[in-house]
Amino acid sequence: MKKFYTPVDLRSRADMTAYLENHFRYPTMNSWNQATSYACNLKVDRLGLSAGIVEKLLDMLDTYEFQEAMQDLRTRFGMEHDYLWQVGMNGRSGGYLVLYQGCQKPSGYRSYCRECGQRNYKSVSESGDVCGRCGSHSRVDYTTPPMEIITYPGRATDDGEDFEDWSLVQLRERVKLVQELDQLADAMVAEALELARTCTVETEEYFVPKTRKVLVPSA
Ligand SMILES: [Zn+2]
Repeated sequence: MKKFYTPVDLRSRADMTAYLENHFRYPTMNSWNQATSYACNLKVDRLGLSAGIVEKLLDMLDTYEFQEAMQDLRTRFGMEHDYLWQVGMNGRSGGYLVLYQGCQKPSGYRSYCRECGQRNYKSVSESGDVCGRCGSHSRVDYTTPPMEIITYPGRATDDGEDFEDWSLVQLRERVKLVQELDQLADAMVAEALELARTCTVETEEYFVPKTRKVLVPSA
């Protein structure tokens, strides 16, 4: 089975530079926008798994539960890096885990409605507690105003970077970050295998409400 994490000698400039320069990269958006970043190829048929497991994973990929489990791991990575570094899936079938840059800023919302969840840029002291959407007296101020997470999908990381000018401290920081990306890839594969071991994929029928116009006799 493929392992993404690679130990690197954090005292050696040569080792750290080689690790960063040779790490797999992938476009952050489309191949034509020229921006690339550190990435891991998570396509299930490229992980060195048995044919039976690959088949099961392919069957599981589209389920909500599987997607949620993977998204949770990626969200945690962003949280641990204060969203300055985030990860996302890219590629036609979403098979590549890519490192993205981002940030977090105040969303500007001051209050929200406890009835319907509508958010408001004004505080209750400014505009009263009536909700503009549902009309109930249910608006309250946030105790901590919510933050908005921003991702820069077109921003490249270390594209064609010459690490010669980097200090050892800077190199170490970057190597550790990319190693954490590799560890996340390993954790995602481990989680996928655990799900494959403990769950079965079943097909369920569900009904989607649709609307149509009908003619009824006037009262
Ligand atoms: Zn409301």
